[in-house]
Amino acid sequence: MSEIKSILSQLDCVAKNPRRQLDMIIDGGKNVVGCLPVYCPEELVYAAGMIPFGIWGADGKELSKAKLYFPAFICSVLQSALELGLEGAFDRMKAVMIPVLCDSLKCMGQNFKAGVPQVEFLPVIHPQNRKTEAGQEFLRSQYMKLRKRLGEIGTPISDEKLAEAINIYNNHRRVMREFSETAAKHPELISASERSAVIKSGFFMDKAEHTKLVERLNLLCGAEPVVPWDGKRVIVTGILADSSSLLSIFEKNGIAVVGDDVAAESRQFRTDVPVTKDPIEGLARQFADMEGCSVLFDPEKKRGDMIVKLAKERKADGVIVLLTKFCDPEEFDYPFLKRAFDAAGIPSILIEVDRQMVNYSQAETAVEAFREML
Ligand code: SF4
Repeated sequence: MSEIKSILSQLDCVAKNPRRQLDMIIDGGKNVVGCLPVYCPEELVYAAGMIPFGIWGADGKELSKAKLYFPAFICSVLQSALELGLEGAFDRMKAVMIPVLCDSLKCMGQNFKAGVPQVEFLPVIHPQNRKTEAGQEFLRSQYMKLRKRLGEIGTPISDEKLAEAINIYNNHRRVMREFSETAAKHPELISASERSAVIKSGFFMDKAEHTKLVERLNLLCGAEPVVPWDGKRVIVTGILADSSSLLSIFEKNGIAVVGDDVAAESRQFRTDVPVTKDPIEGLARQFADMEGCSVLFDPEKKRGDMIVKLAKERKADGVIVLLTKFCDPEEFDYPFLKRAFDAAGIPSILIEVDRQMVNYSQAETAVEAFREML
């Protein structure tokens, strides 16, 4: 049991101290490339001998410089990420990759280029029609451009190195999916905050090292008996679910997170990269294979049914939708989600979240009322 606690505390420390972690990696002789949400091809960075480092903004970050670049109605993920960049937090990185999957991200790239010229900006341009042959060809050509530039910044990327990186990442994804199941079986061992920290720490570590720690954690927890949980079990969905204030409200109310459909969590590891002769083709295919994400074009709107299925599998009592303020893709999805939850008879609640939020009393009241209802 003490080893479980020790691994959880180690990963919690990483999740809470990205700045220290960044310095440690760079001082240890590795170059780092920043990766903004939602789907940067991290395997290319890894294959170039560098460490991809997640940039998802920061809670409680006061915005001043970013206001010169963004109007107030841009999500706080990007506002706080840009503020960090303008303060020089990414100056030791070799480059920062920024996808353009939503309207706010489209502006982010140009703002970053103008405001943080000292750090190279690498645009990651995904096709909207990602499943068509033309979309796939376009994405392969974009990934080839990135491969070339990352190979110049780091070391040249051979097919073998890229295949090796894909293997390391697929292994990480498998272990993280196992962790999500383990945490659902053992809410008495892994609290909502600890679950979040285990997942978040993966953004700031070498994936091979993170895999080893989480694999060990899965093994240790798996050896413990499954005991009844007398609290409530929920699925969370949204862009982020890492607010320590909100997660401690869950814990205070005896609520365990037994699964998620969160962009910064399971959406990062639920789809493997297919192993193909040309590894770039595999990377492009993975993007086509992803389902149920608000920022990806999905005319069939599969997300609601996917969450319903997950809720049934994990025996969840309800779903908590964590809606990031000013996130259009998530707002557009909400009516479809609500309809799917209601049709399946699954209780749900919507809570607005924001990186700038300091007062959680409204959220606390909503969570308490939801728990009572469950
Ligand atoms: S998807 Fe939503 S949260 Fe993410 S960058 Fe775009 S607007 Fe912000």
